[in-house]
Amino acid sequence: MQPDLKPCPFCGHAPEMLGGDAYGYCAISCQSGDCYVTVTVVRPSEAGAAVDWNRRAAEPEPPVTREDGR
Ligand SMILES: [Zn+2]
Repeated sequence: MQPDLKPCPFCGHAPEMLGGDAYGYCAISCQSGDCYVTVTVVRPSEAGAAVDWNRRAAEPEPPVTREDGR
């Protein structure tokens, strides 16, 4: 079963997984024609590649809002 992959961090396109456990290597790449940056991670296993692909910079904190609207 293919692990869940987050969308491309640059364009939001769904990435493609190339190779796989049976090949002894696995690459995950954004192949969107709109994305001039190709993000590729290569690891020996699907699970390892997915972990690396899904690792992101920390999400920004949501803005602080006051419940009273002031
Ligand atoms: Zn992309």
